[in-house]
Amino acid sequence: MTRTDNRKIALVGTGMVGMSFAYSLLNQSVCDELVLIDLDKKRAMGEAMDLNHGLAFSPANMKIYAGDYSDCADADIVTICAGVAQKPGETRLDLLKRNAQVFRSVVEPVVASGFHGIFLIATNPVDIMARITYQLSGFPKERVIGSGTTLDSARLRYLLGEYLQVDPRNIHAYVMGEHGDSEFVPWSQALLSTKPVLEICEESSGALRFSDLEQISQDVKNAAYKIIEAKKATYYGIGMSLTRIARAILGGENSVLTVSACLSGDYGEDEVFVGVPCILNQNGVSRILHLNLTPEEQEKFHHSCETLRTSFDALSL
Ligand code: ADP
Repeated sequence: MTRTDNRKIALVGTGMVGMSFAYSLLNQSVCDELVLIDLDKKRAMGEAMDLNHGLAFSPANMKIYAGDYSDCADADIVTICAGVAQKPGETRLDLLKRNAQVFRSVVEPVVASGFHGIFLIATNPVDIMARITYQLSGFPKERVIGSGTTLDSARLRYLLGEYLQVDPRNIHAYVMGEHGDSEFVPWSQALLSTKPVLEICEESSGALRFSDLEQISQDVKNAAYKIIEAKKATYYGIGMSLTRIARAILGGENSVLTVSACLSGDYGEDEVFVGVPCILNQNGVSRILHLNLTPEEQEKFHHSCETLRTSFDALSL
């Protein structure tokens, strides 16, 4: 991807997740141009107006407007947050099939516009939707990215920071695997500064316990369910995670984030998009980091990849 002075993001799907992303982009001045695209054009127009009215108070200027797929041609990133909600009684597979249809109606016109940037996918189940985008677009694998376990890893660092009484920014720990029920924390890789968290527990004479760490990983996994129970949907956290990813891409940062990336032999897995620590820059996924997982962690990762492959195969695209 050639970087220009005009950092441009096209956002498809101006619902709660999409607009939380847009609002956070505006507040953090991550791009210079933002196009809002939705099946519901009126909604996109209303959202563009609303955001534009905040420009007088934003840290930098930004061109924001409702557009269509032809506006994706010169975008650096196309973010897809479009999707349909689960109907009462609908199975996960039927929902997945309907969202696959939504993606067909989005990815094809985006590619037809001449877009040659990076796809950033947020619609759930995000690992499957990223793989569908990869298949539909024919793009190189490094230029299709799902939000993966970026948010889960942020939740983990926050909870671990609380537990250890340390700033989350000094906690280096990841959630890996599916963004969903089979995700897991490879505790052997969790560090406070440069000290392994497991070592800290061992040396704490029982004050810090592994069972508490396991509870933290359960809390991370159940966070979305809890928020949905309380307020029906989650959007600010994912919006900020997408903003962090977009910033890493547009800034050519080479930052490490656990996005959903396509594995080709990494961790012994193929044919799957899944959350792994990746180095991100203007080319998308520049490298996948290979952590030294324990055999037990490796097995959990394999199980998560199998779950994702089974769901994808059930779609029979
Ligand atoms: P979320 O909470 O995941 O953001 P919403 O229902 O709030 O979910 O938003 C989903 C958005 O996706 C809606 O604005 C909807 O109009 C949009 N959308 C649904 N199908 C399509 C489609 N085929 N093309 C473009 N946008 C779509």
